[in-house]
Amino acid sequence: MLFVPLLVIIFLLAAPVSANVVNLTADEQAWLEQHPKIRIAGDPDYAPFEFRNSRGELMGISQDILGYCLDVLAIELVEVPTHSWKQAQDHLNAGTADLLTVASQTTQRDRYLTFSQPYLYLPVVILTRNDINRQLSLEDLYGLTLITVYGFGVNEYLEQFSDKINLVYARSTAEALQKLSFGSVDAMLLNLGTASYQIQALKLTNLQVSGEIDYTYQLAFAVRSELSPLIPILDKVLAAMPPGQKQQFISKWISLEQGLWRPSKYQTLVTIAIISALGFALMCALYLSLNRTLTAQNKALEQKSLLLEKEIEERKLLEIQLKEQVFQDDLTGLANRRKLLERVALEWPRSLRASRPISILMLDLDHFKIINDSFGHDIGDKVLKSTSSILQDSTRITDLVARWGGEEFVLMLPETGHDLAIEIAERIREKVAATELAFQDNKITFTISIGVATTENGEPSFTELLSISDMALYQSKEQGRNRVSSIII
Ligand code: GH3
Ligand code: MG
Ligand code: MG
Repeated sequence: MLFVPLLVIIFLLAAPVSANVVNLTADEQAWLEQHPKIRIAGDPDYAPFEFRNSRGELMGISQDILGYCLDVLAIELVEVPTHSWKQAQDHLNAGTADLLTVASQTTQRDRYLTFSQPYLYLPVVILTRNDINRQLSLEDLYGLTLITVYGFGVNEYLEQFSDKINLVYARSTAEALQKLSFGSVDAMLLNLGTASYQIQALKLTNLQVSGEIDYTYQLAFAVRSELSPLIPILDKVLAAMPPGQKQQFISKWISLEQGLWRPSKYQTLVTIAIISALGFALMCALYLSLNRTLTAQNKALEQKSLLLEKEIEERKLLEIQLKEQVFQDDLTGLANRRKLLERVALEWPRSLRASRPISILMLDLDHFKIINDSFGHDIGDKVLKSTSSILQDSTRITDLVARWGGEEFVLMLPETGHDLAIEIAERIREKVAATELAFQDNKITFTISIGVATTENGEPSFTELLSISDMALYQSKEQGRNRVSSIII
C-alpha cells in the first residue's frame, strides 16, 4: 500500500526530457567516427533495469535507454559476457569493456570512471516481511540483520551504520529477497524499481515496503576515463529524448496496472486475522476490566466478612465477660452467690449419688466495721481482696470459693471430710491472722472466724448444711472470734 505512491516517484524523478534535437560539435562527431563500436559490460542481475533473460540476452529499462542513445549516435553495441555485476565493473577496470549501463556514481567508482547525467532516480526502500505495521527508518533497524547485495552502490552509504546494524551480503537480489522472505534476515535495502519487479517475478507474497531511506540511486552511464568524450555526447542524446519516450521504456517493465502491491490472499487473511485479534483483544480487555471489578468487589466482601467475623468474636468475648460478670464478684473476682448456687446444683446430686463427703465453710471477717471506720472504706476493700487471695491460694481447683456478701465468704469443698475441712479452715485462719497491710506508718492486721459443716453422705441439702456452717460460725464469734468451729451431721 505504501508501494504505489513511492512507485510514482520513480516516474516523477525520471530525468527531465525537453528537446529532441541532438547538436553535436565537430569534435564530438569526429570522436564518434573514431569509435564506431562500444563494449558493454552488463549487470546480469539488475532487473528491471538490466538483466539477462533465459536466453542470455541483456535487457531492461537501462538497456532500452542505452539502445535508444546508441541508435541515435549510430554506435554499434558489443556485449562483453558477464555473470555478475562485480565482473562487469572488473572489465571496465581492466579495460576489457567500455561502458556500464546501470552505474550510480560513488566516490570509489569516480576514480576510474566518468559518469553521464543520471537518466533515472530510484529511491531506496526498506523491505521487510509483511508482519510490520508501521513505517520504518534506518534507526529502527539498529540491532537487526539487514541484507544487501555485493557491489550495490548503497553499500558504501550503509558502511556508516555497520556498528549499529548487522549487515550481511547476498550474491544476488533474488537470493537476498528469498532470505528475507524465509526469515533468515530482518530487512533488505533495495531500489523501489527492482523491489517491485523482483518480488512480483519471484512471487514472494510475504514481503512489503516498510519505509524509505535517505538515499536515492542515480542511474547513469559510466565509461572508462579514456572514453570520457562520449559522456557529453550521451548527455546531449538523453536531454533530447522525446517527451514520453523514457516513460514508455519504464512502463514496458514496471506496470502499475499489474497491481504490484495489492494485498494478496495471504495479506487479506493477515488483515482479517489482525481485525479478529483486535476484536479478541477488546473482549479480553472487557473481560479483564470486569474481572478486576469483581475481584475488587470480592475483596471488599472478604474484608467485610472478616470485620463481621471479628465483630462476632468480640461479641462472643463480651458475652463471656458479661456472663462471668454475672457470676463474679466485682471487687474480689471470686464467684458470687449465684455462681455458688449453680455449682451446688451440679455438685450436690453427684456427691449424693456417690455417697461422698462434702464440707461447707462459712467465713466472716472479725470486727470489719471497725477496720472500715478506722482506716476507711478503701482499706476495708484491700482487706477483702487480700482475704480472697488467701482463700483461693488455700483451696484446690475442684473447690469453690465465693463471696457470700459483705465481709462473708463461703467455701464448698467436695470430696472433703470433716478433719480435712478443719485443717483447711485452720490454715486459712492462720494465714489471715498473719497478714499485715501497710497503712501510712501503721501495719494493719485482721482476723477471720470460720464455721465448718461436713456431711459424709450428702444427705442434707445445701441450704441445710449452709445454715449449719453458719451456726458453727456463730459459735466461733461467740467464743471470741479468730477461731474455727465445726458441726458434723
Ligand atoms: P463481726 O465481727 O461481728 O462480724 O463484726 P463486723 O463489724 O465484721 O460485722 P458487721 O456486720 O457489724 O459489719 C460488717 C461491715 O462490713 C459493715 C459494712 O460496711 C462492711 N462492708 C460490707 N461490704 C463491704 C465492702 O464491700 N467493702 C467495705 N470496705 N466494707 C464492707
Ligand atoms: Mg458479717
Ligand atoms: Mg464480720
